[in-house]
Amino acid sequence: MQQNKQILILPDIIHLLPDNIANQIAAGEVIQRPASAVKELMENAVDAGATEIKLIINDAGKSLIQVIDNGKGMSETDARMAFERHATSKISNIDDLFKIKTMGFRGEALASIAAVAQVELKTKRLEDETGILLEIENSIVKKQEPIASAIGTSIAMKNLFFNVPARRNFLKSNPAELRHIVDEFIRVAMAFPELFFSLTSNGQQVFHLDAGTLKQRIVQLLGNNYNAKVVSVQEETDYMNIYGFVGKPETAKKTRGDQYFFVNNRFIKSAYLNHAVMNAFDSMIAKDSFPMYALFIDLDPAQLDINVHPTKQEIKFEDEKIVYAFVQSAVKHALAQFSITPTLDFELDASIQHLDAVSKPFTDEKKSTATSSSLYSTFTKKNQAHFVESKSELRHWKDLYGEPKGVSGEQSAVSNNLQNKQGNEIFTPLNPQPSPFTSHHSPLTQLHNTFIILPTQNGYYLVNQQNAHERVLYERFLLAVDGKPMATQQSLFPVTIDLAMADAVLLNELLPDLQHLGYTIEPFGNNTFVLQGTPADIAEGNEKASIEKMLEQYKHFSNDLKYSKREKLIRSLALQQAIKPGTHLTEKEIKNLVEDLFNCITPNVTANGKPTYLEFKKDELNKMFGR
Ligand code: ADP
Ligand code: MG
Repeated sequence: MQQNKQILILPDIIHLLPDNIANQIAAGEVIQRPASAVKELMENAVDAGATEIKLIINDAGKSLIQVIDNGKGMSETDARMAFERHATSKISNIDDLFKIKTMGFRGEALASIAAVAQVELKTKRLEDETGILLEIENSIVKKQEPIASAIGTSIAMKNLFFNVPARRNFLKSNPAELRHIVDEFIRVAMAFPELFFSLTSNGQQVFHLDAGTLKQRIVQLLGNNYNAKVVSVQEETDYMNIYGFVGKPETAKKTRGDQYFFVNNRFIKSAYLNHAVMNAFDSMIAKDSFPMYALFIDLDPAQLDINVHPTKQEIKFEDEKIVYAFVQSAVKHALAQFSITPTLDFELDASIQHLDAVSKPFTDEKKSTATSSSLYSTFTKKNQAHFVESKSELRHWKDLYGEPKGVSGEQSAVSNNLQNKQGNEIFTPLNPQPSPFTSHHSPLTQLHNTFIILPTQNGYYLVNQQNAHERVLYERFLLAVDGKPMATQQSLFPVTIDLAMADAVLLNELLPDLQHLGYTIEPFGNNTFVLQGTPADIAEGNEKASIEKMLEQYKHFSNDLKYSKREKLIRSLALQQAIKPGTHLTEKEIKNLVEDLFNCITPNVTANGKPTYLEFKKDELNKMFGR
């Protein structure tokens, strides 16, 4: 009774945030620093069809960011609407999301800017007599009046974060913020060489970029030293196009920097695609230097995941692998054409020829159109992009895509996975001598896809397949780290692995030992790694998971001071790679496993002390049955 009363007199506590506060919070997502506003305003100008875009900043954008364009302008109502959250003219239904051709579409930028700065908008359309002036502060319209103005739009935002001191204090020094602004400016200007851009900072013109070709724009932006030192990249297929320029090898720098990828004219960052380019340059540049590139990939927006946040520069492709192969091939081709790489001795790169997207058109009714398409010729002509040198280690890629090995009906998908990439079974005997259990005579039986029954002279062994395999792998790895390294299978499409900081530190420490164990992993900065090769018996597609699981496993051992780093690594790998219960094994796999086990130095226990098999003697069994 008493308690009920108390509850009744408590006031409700949930209330809606005032618009300006909600907007300020949301704005933090879109406008993190002056450069974010620069990007949004410049993109809006591009979307508005402007041919001239001028950026004016004072105080590294902290006191003023203004973008003036000669685009289509806005009506009075649209000008008011533009500052509402989720107000956009660029999409109207969900389907539009898959056809995005504009830079913006979320309708968040202007609302965000108006929430965290004092904004002055001037705009006029061709068809209107007068323009309109709007002044907005804290998301509230302070002034709205007709003005005389040129066609187009000018948006000035003053005193960024004037009402969010915490954010303002968080801004970096002027040189640092200016650098960010210049980066964004370059990215937009690079993507639209057919437009005029200028950048004026504290009254001084920093860039004045006349409309021109992409090559001219690159030279304007990145410097004269690239003049005559770039190679044109251009490949077209039905799936996607790529064009742009890469710097000749001699222009490679020791700092990453002049590297630009654009997808449908939007700047993106991609360690994965960067790797494709680096691979194409291969041995032409020193390991620690970076070639210039400005590459534009155009493909159907439906092939992209557009749900990535606009301020993030990562992108997701529907089919990442084909984009990788395509970029790499295109750059290789470009370098070859300009006689930068030797063109002799090329042969068909089977990896690409067998990609679904490439081979499929030839099997359906589109065959005749497909064979006349550029896609077909790109991938079939000699010395084209997809030809790689035959002497490379890529030779065995062909095996990978060769005739499928006869897969008998009884073989399950799982046991197929147990085959390595050459189609060999995993359990190749460590040493060809037969085990003391000459199982040749009596058939070996798998029980519940978990145990193996192994008849002996005077009884039988019940082998636990997981434990047995763990022991086999452990001893195999032990040999490999100390002696002859394990064979590495080059990954067809190197996988990137992004790790948490702590895991990245850990993985870095383990790289040399992992190399011995057949994993070729290259650090890529920013806690990213590229997995170039894996032991031959890791099923393709599982490479990344296998590293992640290994790290997880390793951390379990981390507190165990009695083991060395190496020992922990081997134990982790053995645990992680051992076949799991429920895995069906073929007769041959069972036999190899058993032979491998009894060729081990210590066959009866796992490294972690679990029994690998239990022995059941005939006379004991008989006793149990009262005989
Ligand atoms: P989005 O670009 O995602 O649509 P914004 O908040 O950046 O969202 O802009 C909202 C709308 O305001 C745009 O859809 C466009 O119609 C209009 N707009 C913004 N900037 C300009 C500009 N410079 N010229 C003409 N219209 C503009
Ligand atoms: Mg926009």
